[in-house]
Amino acid sequence: MNPYWLEDEKPPRPDAKLDGRVDVAIVGAGVTGCSAALRLAKGGLRVRVHDARAVAEGASGRNGGFALGGGAARYDVARETYGADKAASYWAWTRQEQDRMVELGGDALRRTGSYRLAGDAEEREGIRLEYEALREDGFEAEWLEDVPGGAAGRFHGAISHPHDCAIQPARFVRRLAGLATAAGAEIREHDTVADLEALDAERLLVATDGYGHGLVPELSDLIWPTRGQMLASEPLGRMLYDRPHYARQGFDYWQQLPDGRILLGGFRDVSILDELTDVEETTPAIQSSLESFLQELAGEEVRVTHRWAGIFGLTQDMLPLVGAVPGRGGRVWVAGGYSGHGNVLGFACGALVADAILGRDAPQLELLDPARFFG
Ligand SMILES: Cc1cc2nc3c(=O)[nH]c(=O)nc-3n(C[C@H](O)[C@H](O)[C@H](O)COP(=O)(O)OP(=O)(O)OC[C@H]3O[C@@H](n4cnc5c(N)ncnc54)[C@H](O)[C@@H]3O)c2cc1C
Repeated sequence: MNPYWLEDEKPPRPDAKLDGRVDVAIVGAGVTGCSAALRLAKGGLRVRVHDARAVAEGASGRNGGFALGGGAARYDVARETYGADKAASYWAWTRQEQDRMVELGGDALRRTGSYRLAGDAEEREGIRLEYEALREDGFEAEWLEDVPGGAAGRFHGAISHPHDCAIQPARFVRRLAGLATAAGAEIREHDTVADLEALDAERLLVATDGYGHGLVPELSDLIWPTRGQMLASEPLGRMLYDRPHYARQGFDYWQQLPDGRILLGGFRDVSILDELTDVEETTPAIQSSLESFLQELAGEEVRVTHRWAGIFGLTQDMLPLVGAVPGRGGRVWVAGGYSGHGNVLGFACGALVADAILGRDAPQLELLDPARFFG
């Protein structure tokens, strides 16, 4: 079945065609590739984007629709792992990028806030530490002993993040693609790149996150393809969840759309090793766990209308890789490895890598430099 998000009507897109060699060729027309294309084209470069499918048909049109601030790790853990100043600046940057998404995104984003829920006492302890660390560093967040709505009485406390958004990710990325082509970038859909070096371009940017494994062999052990599965229900007659909810370290995530349907994903831990794959198909084990949880969330029997899978890229330190690939003479660049948090991070890192290519320095580049994994 098709991902629910991709059924949205495609907006018209200005057509831009470029002849001959370009300054930058981008592989991947998801949120990263489109964000980079927009920034590069606005910076005056000739840009061509290639995608094996159409715009947003990778993970960017297959995800949970959470546009969360921060990184993939818990904030208190990030402070210890990356250093307090770097973590604070990284978190603040993602929040600024969320604001930029709201400005650009029109009706593709709703600033609903989100709930990070504790599934048990141990998780409560963890997210309580995260909440305290966020407050200490001045980030907006609220502690709730219980949440209103359908999740009331079922969890062990929650962090409310008022800055977060619900996003229609395919609509957002298609809009971004339109802005990029309006700025002069060319997007070639249904154009698989088999050999990166064969592209007629001065510089090459790989924006394939969990897909495109092997395109740059040096990155194969650094960005691990990981499968996520989702389903969507028919609309419910009542609203139970007014914002994105996520629990069990992000293994379960759901939101209810304004028309009443629930979109639910996760349960990767049911067969975690099987999900370390780039085979984009659903499995009975995970779909049946999702379906039972859906009935619990709905409190009534509801029909499943859509099921789908997508692939995202996981990294060892849960931080993306953004910058030049070492040993390639400044010709090959990468932005990917968002560890399941690519809606905001993909948007942000696409622009960040574009800035780096344009020769503009930015504080996040040091933290996210792919060189950290090269000896
Ligand atoms: C089920 C699921 C749920 C998720 N939920 C969330 C969420 O709620 N919030 C969040 O922030 N993140 C979420 N993520 C992660 C997020 O969707 C991704 O990190 C993000 O979309 C990555 O965007 P991207 O543009 O870098 O890559 P993608 O959108 O995956 O695009 C990569 C593109 O590269 C193309 N490509 C690959 N190889 C080639 C080639 N050789 N030639 C040409 N084209 C090629 C593909 O066709 C694809 O279109 C989720 C992911 C999944 C799978």
